[in-house]
Amino acid sequence: MDVVVVGAGIAGLSCARALTDGGARVRVVERGRVVGGRLASKRYDGRYADIGAAYVVADDPGFAAQLTSWESRGLARPWTDTLLVHPGGKKTTGPVRWAAPGGLRSLAADLADGLDVRLSAPLDAVPADADAVVLAMPGPQALRLAPPPGIAAAAAGQTWNPVIAAVLTYPRREWGELPGIFVNDHPVLATVCDDGDRRGDGAPVLVAHSTAALAARYLDDPEAAGPILAGAVGELLGLSARPGVHLHRWTFAQPEPVDAPYAVDGRVWLCGDAFGRPRVQTAWLSGRAVAQALLG
Ligand SMILES: Cc1cc2nc3c(=O)[nH]c(=O)nc-3n(C[C@H](O)[C@H](O)[C@H](O)COP(=O)(O)OP(=O)(O)OC[C@H]3O[C@@H](n4cnc5c(N)ncnc54)[C@H](O)[C@@H]3O)c2cc1C
Repeated sequence: MDVVVVGAGIAGLSCARALTDGGARVRVVERGRVVGGRLASKRYDGRYADIGAAYVVADDPGFAAQLTSWESRGLARPWTDTLLVHPGGKKTTGPVRWAAPGGLRSLAADLADGLDVRLSAPLDAVPADADAVVLAMPGPQALRLAPPPGIAAAAAGQTWNPVIAAVLTYPRREWGELPGIFVNDHPVLATVCDDGDRRGDGAPVLVAHSTAALAARYLDDPEAAGPILAGAVGELLGLSARPGVHLHRWTFAQPEPVDAPYAVDGRVWLCGDAFGRPRVQTAWLSGRAVAQALLG
């Protein structure tokens, strides 16, 4: 069986990996210059910061085993089970959040290792030369490939919210133990994470994620959101230093959950994190579910 997987995010890579392990011939086609999609780490001043997913959580046994494999090879590390909530400053304890010393994108790179991945290769139509085509991406991006009606309907039924991520690099650590804050009822901020703490190198770097409302206002000019986000973080934490500010716009950041593992119409499949709670684990599971259905 020849399969083309379009999209080298975590969904596409888990799908391609499982298909390859099952004996299929798989080609992964990715429009970006690197793998990972929203599992994204970008280098600023020689150091990677996580600009997409903030951390990874596992409650599925299969994904937990994948995390354990990454941990055993030094790629992933348990970060924290306690975050702060603003306003109030109370601690909230939950599942262990996992981070990656090399940046979360390194986990996607590990999945891609040994696969046939073609980078910088944007597609504008569903490939005709394969037994099956897996569109592993947000529905609005899949719609640009003019997919068959069942996929177009599933994709059009998804609802997405944008986020602007701000990487804030400070001259020194001016804050105590953070490690991350859920910011509620704030006009600008949704979360702030201590990137030095989660990566384990102690670098004085914070990553803030905007509210969807702020991102929607600045989608055409994300740079203009920089001073607003940096100012809000400074005020929240009482910081005096002015940080370096680097921005990344995620037009399709967070979907409203759909209650199905994937969508399919004939030989074309759609998977990704919209098929469940919008999490890395969901994307990984959705990609694998497509692979298992194809192999089965
Ligand atoms: C700001 C932010 C914070 C988040 N925080 C968390 C968190 O803390 N924990 C968590 O678990 N999850 C978090 N998430 C969600 C998590 O990042 C996603 O669930 C997961 O990475 C989605 O993977 P995916 O493979 O489904 O999609 P994507 O990662 O979006 O992958 C889709 C891929 O398809 C490619 N593509 C699209 N169109 C084409 C085309 N025409 N041709 C070729 N390639 C194409 C894209 O370039 C991309 O690489 C966050 C996401 C964002 C944006």
